[in-house]
Amino acid sequence: MQTVVELNDLQASRAALAEPVGLVPTMGFLHEGHLSLVRAAREQCASVVVSIFVNPTQFGPNEDLAAYPRDLPRDFALLEKEGVDLVWAPTPEVMYPAGYQTWVTVKELTGHLEGALRPGHFQGVTTVVAKLFNATRPHKAFFGQKDAQQVAVIRQMTRDLSYPIAIQVCPIVREADGLAMSSRNIYLNPQERKAAVVLFRSLTTASQLYEQGQREVAPIKAAMEEIFHQEPLARVQYISFADAQTLAEVTELDRPSLVSMAVYVGKTRLIDNQILG
Ligand code: AMP
Repeated sequence: MQTVVELNDLQASRAALAEPVGLVPTMGFLHEGHLSLVRAAREQCASVVVSIFVNPTQFGPNEDLAAYPRDLPRDFALLEKEGVDLVWAPTPEVMYPAGYQTWVTVKELTGHLEGALRPGHFQGVTTVVAKLFNATRPHKAFFGQKDAQQVAVIRQMTRDLSYPIAIQVCPIVREADGLAMSSRNIYLNPQERKAAVVLFRSLTTASQLYEQGQREVAPIKAAMEEIFHQEPLARVQYISFADAQTLAEVTELDRPSLVSMAVYVGKTRLIDNQILG
């Protein structure tokens, strides 16, 4: 496994890779969720490239950029075991040299959900992913359903900018109790960690009601809110029911729908989601 930092080293190593090439973009501090993407890429592609970059432009001014967990030596060891060919871990200066001024923006889709609450977040995401696509020229790129809106936005960008890249979406990997794996789970103290299962419990309730035939959003949302009321360490920022394609809010589940949420557990902001239908 090669590890590179500089763009010219990346390009030289990329040129020597067997094709098709699979790319797994990450911010590092890897867990089984990331590794599930790497394994999918390993199965489907002749070569696997993983990028590790805590992208400053997708963090808001009051978000956790400085505190975001990092452990490159551990990440490299995990990726080596998975048979990854090439790891690109650029510095912010490599990605955004002095004088940088070009941005990629997806419009409507980023006006909802996370995009509405985190101004500039998706512009940072699409810009960095476009740069990763340009530099690594993958045939397939692997993303997690954990970040459902990110998947929709990247699919849109890939279509709109005519990238010849297949976007592969992998299911959410969860801890034994149902908590979606996330690098940010490290912020949770033991009490908060226990409380954090409430997101999954609320999604399970939503699925059960849906399976029983409920198609009205209001009673499902009320049942979810009731579950959160019973967990004093959790504070809901939003629970959304949206059209899975457009991400516009819906009141009836008469089409494939995305139920998604952002919840503070203590000071840690967690997101989770599920597709209904
Ligand atoms: P991140 O390092 O958080 O930017 O995540 C890198 C990629 O891993 C993204 O495509 C995420 O959606 C995906 N990912 C993160 N957590 C999970 C998870 N629990 N299950 C599946 N994919 C995940």
